Amino acid sequence: MGILGPFARSAAVVVLAVFGAVAAFATIAPSPDAQFLLSRTSSIEALPIPAEALLPSPASYIREERFQRGDTLAAFLLRLGVSDGEVAPLARQRAFQALRPGYNVAAEVSAEGRLVALSFLTSRDTLVQVSREGEEFRSSEERAALYTQVAMKSTVVQTSLFAASDAAGIPDGVAMQLADIFGGDIDFHRDLRKGDQFAVVYEMHYLGGRPVRAGRVLAAEFTNNGKTFRAVHFGNGYYAPDGKNLRKAFMRSPLEFSRVSSGFGMRRHPIAQAWRQHQGIDYAAPTGTRVRAVGDGVVEYAGLKGGYGNVVILRHHGQYATVYAHLSRIAVRKGARVAQNDTIGAVGQTGWATGPHLHYEFRVAGQARNPFSIAMPSALPVAQQDLLAFRNHAAALVERLDLMANVTVAQVQ
Ligand SMILES: [Zn+2]
Repeated sequence: MGILGPFARSAAVVVLAVFGAVAAFATIAPSPDAQFLLSRTSSIEALPIPAEALLPSPASYIREERFQRGDTLAAFLLRLGVSDGEVAPLARQRAFQALRPGYNVAAEVSAEGRLVALSFLTSRDTLVQVSREGEEFRSSEERAALYTQVAMKSTVVQTSLFAASDAAGIPDGVAMQLADIFGGDIDFHRDLRKGDQFAVVYEMHYLGGRPVRAGRVLAAEFTNNGKTFRAVHFGNGYYAPDGKNLRKAFMRSPLEFSRVSSGFGMRRHPIAQAWRQHQGIDYAAPTGTRVRAVGDGVVEYAGLKGGYGNVVILRHHGQYATVYAHLSRIAVRKGARVAQNDTIGAVGQTGWATGPHLHYEFRVAGQARNPFSIAMPSALPVAQQDLLAFRNHAAALVERLDLMANVTVAQVQ
């Protein structure tokens, strides 16, 4: 084997880097006292680098690379430090059939470029390993012994949601889940303010002491422009601590939240106009940014229409309709049913548009209305018979949010 040993050694360094990212951070086992772990975190930071880590010219070393889209296996193995002569026999290993773009591969390679062992984690949570046995290689694939810890982090928004989550070491996947969970109440493209805060409790999956990926958000708090929203995961959804469903019939933003489309700059784009002047909201975003249906509905129109350019009009239940204009691409056909969050097209600048942007209208009984002035109906709350169980479940998580909120306030002051 030989591969897990070095992993364990490097684990301390990885943990240091992760823990050092922000003071308001703790990984906690599901129940112990979080206060205790916060103080233990700071003692880990003070650990000196062990002397053996500084020893020169090791017999072998560990290299880690991400297999990229467009990589050939041969080129990738060379990048991992495997010598020319080893590449061909190694590439014949069946184990590599499981390798996909985006996977991280760790390889232990001798100073002469001989592979000692190599491993990667698949998206099915299996660990694939290739190891040397004399002059041969041996492959194996087994269920990865992942374990899950609960992480709690909090941070303050200075420029964008992603900058804030980066600064706190919060994975992208968690930031995207936050935008989703609170997407019925907050338009993350337009509403975010400097000084907004959030705290999040989420699962983090580990393998051999190393964080490998984030899991579900268990609870979160978001304070936007002075207003605080809280969410607790329960069953298949997210609910406020009082049991109200956070999912709304309409999402606040027709644009998917992503690194590319996020940021305060969006609001200051020169083509942005007051809603009153032109009966809609303009979202400046790069051409090709995904446009999604804000609610369940039926496609009433999909095609070219004068100044709108390529436009999709959705009819929703009741008197509601939504309009998405200047699209570069239309992904739906007239008469089709769409569900909330389905892709209906992509941002463009067709029709009367001076730059790539989405013109979005919300209509009630044929009249354009400002969606932010309309109270959106919610999905069903926690069922009466589950309410007691929900309250017990929520209480522990809300306690953690309270703790994190206190830590954040202390940092800001
Ligand atoms: Zn417009």
